[in-house]
Amino acid sequence: MTAYMDHKDLANETIDAQRTLQIADGVHRVMDEVARAESAAGRPAGSVKLLAATKTRDVGEIMAAIDAGIRMIGENRPQEVAVKAAGLARLCAERGFSLGAADAAGSAASATSAADPTHIPFHLIGQLQSNKIGKVLPVVDTIESVDSIDAAEKISRRAVARGITVGVLLEVNESGEASKSGCDPAHAILLAQRIGTLAGLELQGLMTIGAHVDDETTIRRCFAHLRKTRDQILDAGEPGTEHCTELSMGMTHDLALAIAEGSTIVRVGTGVFGERAFI
Ligand SMILES: *Cc1c(COP(=O)(O)O)cnc(C)c1O
Repeated sequence: MTAYMDHKDLANETIDAQRTLQIADGVHRVMDEVARAESAAGRPAGSVKLLAATKTRDVGEIMAAIDAGIRMIGENRPQEVAVKAAGLARLCAERGFSLGAADAAGSAASATSAADPTHIPFHLIGQLQSNKIGKVLPVVDTIESVDSIDAAEKISRRAVARGITVGVLLEVNESGEASKSGCDPAHAILLAQRIGTLAGLELQGLMTIGAHVDDETTIRRCFAHLRKTRDQILDAGEPGTEHCTELSMGMTHDLALAIAEGSTIVRVGTGVFGERAFI
């Protein structure tokens, strides 16, 4: 299933100077692109958070991105979280940063820690099977990939049992592509309202993966619909939805379109680290 993990030691902490420079260049290029897109959209500088999507990258590569200015990371697979978490947390602590939920004294809701410049939020951005919830809850602040009430209830029960609050985003399949996870856009509002009532969860927003097409109009329409859905949830004002403000949308190839449509978090892998050798 995750054969690439046999080929690469993801816990490795040491990378060479050339790779360090390459990653720093990637970070700065993407930060410039985000800034340009914010400005082009007439949005305040710094209104979009840059999350580095770190799947297949080792601890040394991720720390190089953090050293170059990355302040939010996201992993896809609980197995990768498990392999990298301890090394990342230790190296972050050496630099004066706390990472994810690792240091959360009980129930630090991520909405508050997000404003702390010494905290680096750690998100799960890939699918979470129920038998892996226990593995990621001690590590991540926020699970971006919740797409059913069943999944939300399972995470809620585990969070309550641990006495913590975990941030969640509702993932919506705006493009309708069969290969993609995410709930049906027609059910998103109701689902968000139900998730908002669950203990141990803080509904922080919505997430989507852009349509896999060349046509910019289609890509933008999907992003615009996610924003509209977020606005409708906030306008309806149901209990537990008041923090549903984030729009996690936009990746390496469509981040400017997503920012034009109101994205608050862009998730960038290739643009920061280069092409993936695996997957
Ligand atoms: C891999 C991944 C990204 C980043 O993709 P790039 O095209 O490499 O920027 C963003 N979101 C999710 C959910 C991913 O799996």
